[in-house]
Amino acid sequence: MFAAVIVGVNSKDVNRLFDYKIPDRLTDVIKVGHRVFVPFGPRHVQAYVMSIHDDTGVPEDKVKEIVKVMDVEPVLTDELVELSKKLANYYIEPYISVIETILPVALKTKSKKVLMLDDSASGEAKFIYESYAVNGELETKSLHTRDLAKLMPYIDTGEIYEDILIKQHTRKKIQKGVRSLYLNKAPLERAPKQYEALHVIEDSNEPVLLADLKAQGYSEALVRELEKKGYVEKLDMIVERDPYESAVFEADYEKELTGEQTAAFNSINNALNNREDETFLLHGITGSGKTEVYLQLIQTALNNGRDAIMLVPEIALTPQMVNRFKARFGDDVAVLHSALSHGEKYDEWRKIQSGRARVSVGARSSIFAPFKNIGIIIIDEEHETTYKQSERPMYHAAEVAKLRSEYHHCPVVLGSATPSLESYARSSKEVYKRFELTHRPGMQQVPKAEIVDMSDEHKDGNSGILSRRLEAAIQDRIDRGEQTVLLLNRRGFANFQICQNCGHVPQCPNCDISLTYHKNNSSLLCHYCSYEEQVTRKCADCGSTDVTFRGTGTQKVEEILRDVFNVDIIRMDVDTTQRKGAHEQLLSRFESDNVPILLGTQMIAKGLDYPNVTLVGVLNADTMLNLPDFRANERTFQLLTQVAGRAGRHELPGEVIFQTYNPEHYAITLAMTNNYTEFYDREMQFRKFARYSPYYFHILFTVSAERIHDCLEATTDIHKTLVDNVSESCIIIGPSPSPIERIKNKNRFQILLKYKREPELKHVLDALDEKYTQIYKKTGLSLKIDVDPQYI
Ligand code: ADP
Ligand code: ZN
Ligand code: ZN
Repeated sequence: MFAAVIVGVNSKDVNRLFDYKIPDRLTDVIKVGHRVFVPFGPRHVQAYVMSIHDDTGVPEDKVKEIVKVMDVEPVLTDELVELSKKLANYYIEPYISVIETILPVALKTKSKKVLMLDDSASGEAKFIYESYAVNGELETKSLHTRDLAKLMPYIDTGEIYEDILIKQHTRKKIQKGVRSLYLNKAPLERAPKQYEALHVIEDSNEPVLLADLKAQGYSEALVRELEKKGYVEKLDMIVERDPYESAVFEADYEKELTGEQTAAFNSINNALNNREDETFLLHGITGSGKTEVYLQLIQTALNNGRDAIMLVPEIALTPQMVNRFKARFGDDVAVLHSALSHGEKYDEWRKIQSGRARVSVGARSSIFAPFKNIGIIIIDEEHETTYKQSERPMYHAAEVAKLRSEYHHCPVVLGSATPSLESYARSSKEVYKRFELTHRPGMQQVPKAEIVDMSDEHKDGNSGILSRRLEAAIQDRIDRGEQTVLLLNRRGFANFQICQNCGHVPQCPNCDISLTYHKNNSSLLCHYCSYEEQVTRKCADCGSTDVTFRGTGTQKVEEILRDVFNVDIIRMDVDTTQRKGAHEQLLSRFESDNVPILLGTQMIAKGLDYPNVTLVGVLNADTMLNLPDFRANERTFQLLTQVAGRAGRHELPGEVIFQTYNPEHYAITLAMTNNYTEFYDREMQFRKFARYSPYYFHILFTVSAERIHDCLEATTDIHKTLVDNVSESCIIIGPSPSPIERIKNKNRFQILLKYKREPELKHVLDALDEKYTQIYKKTGLSLKIDVDPQYI
């Protein structure tokens, strides 16, 4: 028997299957999806079994043997093995990089390990013990955890290597437990409390944690008595870390669905019951009860004996969100987000893999949750850019969701108050089935926003960041003991020339896109067509010389607010939320102390739901319009709609104020009136005219090299290859400098390919990838191919 493996060496050179002989002793053990150890060159490396065959094309004397197997159960299911191949293909990526994205970091290739632990929940730890001394002999041993403790000192001495599972990240918490020795309890009848405690211990099939007994009112002294009398013995127990172990979840009950919710629910539920892999778009305004629909769908999946994946953007993974899922589904829920340590992530992954968790709630990468029987996949806030990974492999979670749903025959639900234009366009063509939720289930109305024109403020002599209107509104809330959320939009804030007097930002004459300020040569550049002009410190619109390139930071704004209002303020930005748990702490203080003002960046726009927030202010509603990105209008509209949805969610009515220099811009006026469909129509006209997604697909080629000359040469070559090989209906833009021209001392140039249908394109991309892999090895010049880029 032979195994075709992908080796854990991240180099494109080895991006193919290698055959190894499966030694006889392991033929019944090794399965597809196992991690194995194989000799590779002078070393032994970790590898992943992708398929198993009776024969190999490699000559008998050349084929080497697998040294050992690393896992009890394969870490990749057959489905995930197939998925990794499809993704590698679609995104032009090495297999290994996809596989290692699918798996938790804790399972990644490490140096040789000899001892392994199957962390079953019982107090017994099971080891697969193997040593080179016995030459790759695989042995399974059940050890008492006490013995594990004895082995610990030898670990790392080189005699015994601790397994990744323990060593790298997941030093398991070991806690004291106790188990019954099952003696006749009769002699204990005159010590009722001890008798009772022993019952509790025996009623649990597994050993019981001392801490749990204590929580139930049985003291340690009492347990010691039982131990002395020989009824129980103490032992060490391995306890999985639960990041939510000290959290108390508020009860949350199933609501009776409204008519709109019912229509959506019924249709999706049918697909779920009939095992159809249909995609649905749930377009519902903020607070319209989308999450309630998700929760009830997940309940159906669970009732049908199937699992559920729920994706939310990282920033929406608020304690409130997690609470709703934990409250409904309890320990069935695994929560996966980036703030977890590698070990904690691994624990959650294990819960899913072993079938102990049935629902996963998490950010992008949890789309790879190793469930074996998925009943539904939900992507909330589907328009969020974080669903596309910005590093390699640059996969989009929705793409992965579609592949997984085809395999599991389950529906995918995309939910949003402001769907991406791509998804809405698909729903208009009935590729996706769309349902609308147009009102909030309670009495509350979505608050209407009000626009304040900041150039008027300037003219009237107010050059501060607070308009008089917003200042008065905040003061009003302070007086009434209500709360305000203030958004300072940080994206698109720095790299533009902006007129302080009229808000004018220089635009490209050819492309309708803001010019980016490039400091090193004092120029303004268009990244779409390479148009360039020199910076003049005079506004082209109003002639004012009051032009600047920088925005105001959150810290500065906080100081200003303190001066004006003299109240407690919570600031949330990258600086104040770095520490683990800081995010939660700040929010919980905001609520419990009724802090008057929460000031934050984009991270406060989502998921917050506090009854006492009655005012939302956006200090600079328009800065994102200046991004050199054809999606700038869309992102502005989405952000403003989201943040406006934070106000007046409960009994108290809400008010929203957008400060802007562009009071007429449709992305702002239509966000003000919460009019998605009109925004969609307007924006689609622009996309059609300018030939962007969803009318065209995009592929972005980015070349980076030390010398500009090399970048130009390479991009010119790529340009030529494309012109020679794609049809005339394609549009090729560039070469032009990338929006960020230099990263880590490398220059970057890009080409954008826009196409409608190019069946042969895959071959062109593969060939380019191959060619530039070789060039990279010789010169260090690299080519990145981004399929369906989020940012251009
Ligand atoms: P969304 O996900 O669209 O923002 P949610 O599901 O969070 O909306 O619902 C907003 C609020 O309305 C929540 O407090 C939720 O419990 C409540 N809610 C949702 N559906 C119903 C319903 N059918 N009846 C009563 N309350 C509901
Ligand atoms: Zn001006
Ligand atoms: Zn241009």
